[in-house]
Amino acid sequence: MDIYYNGIIYLNDEKTTKASAMAVEGGLIKAVGSDEDILAMASDGDTMLDLQGRLVMPGFVDSHLHFVEYAVEKSFVDLSSAGSLEELLGMMRERLPEALEKNKPLRGFSFDNNYWEDPSLPTREDLDGLSAEIPITVRRTCHHVTVCNTPALEICGMLEDCPDGILNEEEQNAVIEKLLTFTKEEFKELILDACSDAVKAGITEVQTDDLEYMRKELYGKTILDAYMELDKEGRLPIRVYEQCNLPSADRLNAFLDAGFRTGYSTGHFTIGPLKLVADGALGSRTAALRKPYPDDPSNYGILNFTDQEMEELVDTAHRAGLQIAIHGIGDRTIDQILNSYEKALRAHPGADHRHGIVHCQITHPEQLQKMKELDLMAYIQPIFIRSDQWIAEDRVGKDLAATSYDWRTMTDMGIHLGFGSDCPVESFDIMPNMYYAVAMKDPDKKTPWHPEHAVTMEEAIRSFTAEGAYASFAEDRRGRLVPGFTADFCVIDRDITSLSPEALNEAKVIMTFVDGKRVF
Ligand SMILES: [Zn+2]
Repeated sequence: MDIYYNGIIYLNDEKTTKASAMAVEGGLIKAVGSDEDILAMASDGDTMLDLQGRLVMPGFVDSHLHFVEYAVEKSFVDLSSAGSLEELLGMMRERLPEALEKNKPLRGFSFDNNYWEDPSLPTREDLDGLSAEIPITVRRTCHHVTVCNTPALEICGMLEDCPDGILNEEEQNAVIEKLLTFTKEEFKELILDACSDAVKAGITEVQTDDLEYMRKELYGKTILDAYMELDKEGRLPIRVYEQCNLPSADRLNAFLDAGFRTGYSTGHFTIGPLKLVADGALGSRTAALRKPYPDDPSNYGILNFTDQEMEELVDTAHRAGLQIAIHGIGDRTIDQILNSYEKALRAHPGADHRHGIVHCQITHPEQLQKMKELDLMAYIQPIFIRSDQWIAEDRVGKDLAATSYDWRTMTDMGIHLGFGSDCPVESFDIMPNMYYAVAMKDPDKKTPWHPEHAVTMEEAIRSFTAEGAYASFAEDRRGRLVPGFTADFCVIDRDITSLSPEALNEAKVIMTFVDGKRVF
């Protein structure tokens, strides 16, 4: 038995109870209580850990990110700090000699031209100016736009269709497919690398959308095999719930034919929902809206599926017993998703489906009502408002912005909210993300953006723990530190539950445990 004492144990139960000690045995919480009671349970051979007044919380669940992509991008040029096109090109140039020497593509990511004085996107010519020998690509922070140089376009056969080098959505996925190829062994290393970073953030479960990295395979078998092998070898330190991105009937059917269903598990690795990406993003004006963009009046955004395509995919997955999670940012897209779910649920009601909408940003009150009616969950990235607060009103108008990102109303309505990062769109660090959910403002600003949409600290914690467990059908055994639950937890250097939100920006995770075993 392992005994943790002299700390603050945050049970995350209905009454937000705190205890000071906890006993763990066989990977489960055996007891929580006072130091006196728990220490009295100790016998020879037990491990004792003095928490020195620190906070113990359930391990964090990131309910939507791209874990493999995060690991891959670590080897790319991070352009998030580029303040202009010149700076972007300078940062890429620095890494050019290495790429030329290895004759490998040079890739940059996460630039945000919205912040630039001249917000024009880079062009093919700009990147050719760096090198026209190796493929060079740079991707916007929204993930929905990639700019390529001539060799990159040539490899992908898109030079004629896309002379400016600016690719959206499907086209840019083709680039990913052509320029990025990994073996199973390479994926295993990438996954382990990502895990070693996640545990430092107190994360014990990731719900991750990875399969787009193997689009030349029907259903991303190499990545699934990489996860399952690591797990069988006992090397997967955290839980992984795969949000299986299968955007066509062929892919979905191949996956189902291979026997995969939500809940299929090798232990730490579990098959999660079917994941679909139904539109783009607000920054690049590719989120699909009911009305045209006020700041681009001919543009309604982009729907990635026809209504019929989405209805068929949702129906097939729902009938096969798959959970479903669909990326929807614009209100038009959310209409499409709601209609698809409603049809499938009317035709085949009754299941504890836990379908949901990922991002769920631009919403009208009646859409939230419909979500509640259909019992849909929302996968929210609170930290998105760090950038969206500056553009949302330009993109959708003041009135619609005021009913969007409304986590307060969602919570009050009883809609399940899982919080996450969409990493590598944003960092998967929990604390700054949680800060935006409760503060609704930048740390250095006085005035919050729509403070009426904020959730409480307790609610934010729940959305990063128990609600994440709900999203993976595990709320009866994970997400709380109560007897009988799995001992997935982290230790934080201060009691964030009793401090002001600002404390979140200082707080540090100092240990992480999965199944009672220390992984960080
Ligand atoms: Zn995503």
